[in-house]
Amino acid sequence: MSEFKENTILVDLQRCIGCWTCSLACKVGNKLPDEEFWLTVRTLGSGEGVDRPAGTWPDLHMSWMPIWSQSCVKCPSRIAKGEKPYCVNSCPCDALTIGDAAEAKAAELRDRGFRFFELPAWEKSKDDVLYAEKK
Ligand code: SF4
Ligand code: SF4
Repeated sequence: MSEFKENTILVDLQRCIGCWTCSLACKVGNKLPDEEFWLTVRTLGSGEGVDRPAGTWPDLHMSWMPIWSQSCVKCPSRIAKGEKPYCVNSCPCDALTIGDAAEAKAAELRDRGFRFFELPAWEKSKDDVLYAEKK
């Protein structure tokens, strides 16, 4: 597992329900124009629709993965004030943690048998985002 930094974000994929609140909180907080998103939420389903499950009935499954783009600035002014970034602060499912809280959560999840990974370089996503998923 990579070293945790002050701005390392940990995503507990087990808790993400694909609501996009994180993305919209970033958009509003950072006053982004309509067409711009610094964080998007990928649906891991059949790939044929935004929210279409994979598999065949009754064995259907779908999950979601927030993805931080290179444009994300990790909210330095909020972190400097001891506040969480808009995205982390807004998640209604407690799926996102940052910094020391992320390190503590990772230790807890590791004990519960989660595995950790980062997105590959070809995704060209933001650095220092770590995903946790149940093995
Ligand atoms: S860390 Fe800040 S800039 Fe980056 S996606 Fe979250 S709210 Fe947006
Ligand atoms: S990380 Fe949280 S706010 Fe973002 S889509 Fe998942 S559940 Fe919603």
